[in-house]
Amino acid sequence: MGFLRLFVFILILVPSMAAQQPPGSPTPTPTPLPPPTVKIDRYRDAAARIIGAALTSDHAYARLAHLTDHIGNRISGSQNLERAIAWAITEMKRDGLDNVRTEKVMVPHWVRGEESLEMLAPVPRKLQMLGLGNSVGTPAEGITAEAVVVRSFAELDRLGEQVRGKIVVYNAPFVNYGATVEYRLRGASRAARYGAVAALVRSITPVSLQTPHTGAMNYDPEQPKIPVAAVTIEVAQFLQRMNDRGDHPRLKLKMEAKFLPDAESANVIAEIKGSEKPDEVIVIGGHFDSWDVGQGAHDDGGGCIVAWETVRLLKELGLRPRRTIRVVLWTNEENGLRGGTAYHDAHKAEIAKHILAIESDSGVYRPEGFGLVDTAPLQVRSNLLEIAKLLSGIGADQIAADGGGADISPMMHDGVAGASLDVDGTHYFDIHHTHADTLDKVNPRELALCVATMAVMAYTVADMPESLK
Ligand SMILES: [Zn+2]
Repeated sequence: MGFLRLFVFILILVPSMAAQQPPGSPTPTPTPLPPPTVKIDRYRDAAARIIGAALTSDHAYARLAHLTDHIGNRISGSQNLERAIAWAITEMKRDGLDNVRTEKVMVPHWVRGEESLEMLAPVPRKLQMLGLGNSVGTPAEGITAEAVVVRSFAELDRLGEQVRGKIVVYNAPFVNYGATVEYRLRGASRAARYGAVAALVRSITPVSLQTPHTGAMNYDPEQPKIPVAAVTIEVAQFLQRMNDRGDHPRLKLKMEAKFLPDAESANVIAEIKGSEKPDEVIVIGGHFDSWDVGQGAHDDGGGCIVAWETVRLLKELGLRPRRTIRVVLWTNEENGLRGGTAYHDAHKAEIAKHILAIESDSGVYRPEGFGLVDTAPLQVRSNLLEIAKLLSGIGADQIAADGGGADISPMMHDGVAGASLDVDGTHYFDIHHTHADTLDKVNPRELALCVATMAVMAYTVADMPESLK
């Protein structure tokens, strides 16, 4: 990502570079961007007003504080999620937004129940863990077996049938989220293939203070379903040392995890109706559900509040754009994506009228700009780069070479240009999906900067007389 971002940056600043590549260069010649059609001078005043208003308001932080402290975490199927949805609808109507409504979605209802992990031998000890979302539970008496620790799938494959009847512990070091999350997603079924009775996965994080990270896992339908939980880096390393010394650590895993019947939930929708082209839509949003630990502050309460505050602020400033800006707070991103799928299905007829969809789901740290899906038309990229200049004063003027979001991915498959609000991700995976994703990790000024960034981009795209693509 870093390389591609730099590459596009250079391409924009020095368009002639593409032509200067030496013959036989392995770097493919990039297509130069067309000149932007948007004229940003007419938006400088509005951008300054938006940024000023966002940075002098504590409204976004106060709302995130209510969501996190008074409602709390919001897993699909929980009362908390439905309380959050009801609260948002009431408040959005109070904000005077247009077309405030819910759109019903049936969501999976996974419950964690009680759970524990202990070492029985060679030394009795309680171990920090969190069951992975979608996992099956253990029998009531738990599963007791010897642990076998591997650092990779390759190491597991070398052991093969030797793990039969055992608990496989994956102690894979964090490389990056996309690469390492494979152990969380597929570790259970890969171990079950060789007869393992349960699996434990080192948390997908670069750092740890004994904090286990949950997250979704998937079963391969061809393999037996075995229970799977996350352990902390500390526990994984401890078990690795035991394993390497030949101590044959014996573990007892207990999990009550199970699925209840699907529950009724909803996407939350509110708009600023466009003044001239109300049927053309810019969608902005985040996912309202979270995991069942912590407060879902960065993931993704913050992203929801950023989108919501964008339209509240524009309304307060009397800025009604030509096109409609639609906020969607998606339900069930974490363990099903039913909200994003349902939105796509319910709005199929107007998908072609979706000009741009922006998801904010990377935490609400200092914004750097946006990531635009790499398949977006070059004219869209050129225009977003031009509009982002309005954000150079707050350092949020990058348009990265790729982007998008889980909830908007069904729309993107239909050709809607998708983007992500990109932020400084240095510390996101420290707390992601943990008990530590709480409001104290959110910096109010960085949250306000995220609002300013989203609002300037959404307003300008929604209002520009020219076509975005
Ligand atoms: Zn998220």
